[in-house]
Amino acid sequence: MLTTHPFDDDKLREECGIFGVYGAEGASAMVALGLHALQHRGQEAAGITSWDGEEFHSVRAMGHVAGNFDNDDVIRKLAGEVACGHVRYSTTGETALRNVQPLYAELSSGGFAIAHNGNISNAMNLRRRLVREGAIFQSTSDTEVIIHLLARSRYRTLLDRFIDALKQVEGAYSLICLTREGLIACRDPLGIRPLVMGRLGEAIIFASETVAFDVVGAEYIRQVEPGELIVVTHGGELRSHRPFGESLHPRPCIFEHVYFSRPDSVVDGNSVYSVRKGIGAQLAIESPVDADLVIPVPDSGVPAAIGYAQQSGIPFELGIIRSHYIGRTFIQPGDKVRHLGVKLKHNANRALIDGKKIVLIDDSIVRGTTSLKIVQMMREAGAKEVHMRIASPPTRHSCFYGVDTPERGKLLAHKMDVAQMCAFIHADSLAFVSIEGLYRAIGENHRDEESPQYCDACFTGAYPTTLTDFDDQADVNQLELLRERVV
Ligand code: SF4
Repeated sequence: MLTTHPFDDDKLREECGIFGVYGAEGASAMVALGLHALQHRGQEAAGITSWDGEEFHSVRAMGHVAGNFDNDDVIRKLAGEVACGHVRYSTTGETALRNVQPLYAELSSGGFAIAHNGNISNAMNLRRRLVREGAIFQSTSDTEVIIHLLARSRYRTLLDRFIDALKQVEGAYSLICLTREGLIACRDPLGIRPLVMGRLGEAIIFASETVAFDVVGAEYIRQVEPGELIVVTHGGELRSHRPFGESLHPRPCIFEHVYFSRPDSVVDGNSVYSVRKGIGAQLAIESPVDADLVIPVPDSGVPAAIGYAQQSGIPFELGIIRSHYIGRTFIQPGDKVRHLGVKLKHNANRALIDGKKIVLIDDSIVRGTTSLKIVQMMREAGAKEVHMRIASPPTRHSCFYGVDTPERGKLLAHKMDVAQMCAFIHADSLAFVSIEGLYRAIGENHRDEESPQYCDACFTGAYPTTLTDFDDQADVNQLELLRERVV
């Protein structure tokens, strides 16, 4: 396939997005709108499950929300005032309809639907044990492990059984679940993946990002706290539980600020747009350069480039123009055409760049193939000097918490130091924001070395949890991983 998202394919891929509504007429239509606002978190598949007081209804499909859930007939099938939904990019489990969420099961206590953002890092071990004990899995998704643990729990109430299941899983999970008793929203004790709560009239809404509230006209109330489990029961009563005790050292994902979340969202109480501008300003302080123009790699490099330009006083210009009228992929017959595909989506603004010294700003470098192409594109457009500045520290380690990262050996920063990376992408200079600079941009004085305030493992290797699934595998990458520090 020829990708027409050349600058997105060399990124860490977003995980999943979840959205849930309790107590609104046409809840599933609202979920469809919310999922549409979260589409950037997963473009592979989408699903919605609703409860009409008697029955559960579910529609799951491969592809985007638009095209699957913009149809009155589909929304009419999803009757009821309670609904939850999911957009997915597969992080665990093959791409198949059976893995599309919300997953649904008929338990002894009744129907149970679950939408999960994150990744359970001991899912393989738990799955092996459950299969030995006779469990029959319907999907290859890590999320199904929670359903089987819940089904086998010896506790009496559904809530106790759910908590019992969660106490056995490790890793990252933000969950929205639908039961006959109400809606449950829950975040893992470290709060690795985001989850926020809002209100629209009498209706209570949960979503991965606040941008989804804006789209449906809801008001942001607060985030679901790390380790918090909120139950909205039929009748609209809200109950907050702390099944894991107080979460003293949350570790939310720092990459939400760098790239995953939409710039118009508020994450961990901070405007994502402002943080990204702040990272750009930090970059300008730490790695100044004598240049004529600051140019963002669209779209993710734009806020940091504005920050860099404002801090440095160098003019901000759009030196790469992005076409908005192109599909995601199409068949390509050979390498020559693949290169043309890059220019279909993004093209150099030659009249601006010719003869100029430019600073290119991007959010991250993963494999480095994209950076190489962009630098080349700038040189072909006549740039006199091309200086690359990156609004995150070097990405040296894989993520095990619901983000698709290439294996470590394929990460450019794992193989090379900054000087070697600069030579690889053919830039005149290359610099990354420091980890301390990134923390400062988020509003922290410094990174707490003993107990970091965020998960930053893809930069530092300081994983916030044990990684049970990877302890007994002979894969070289995994063994390397075991030598890394778990903070
Ligand atoms: Fe986020 Fe990186 Fe941690 Fe994964 S390893 S949760 S991408 S900070």
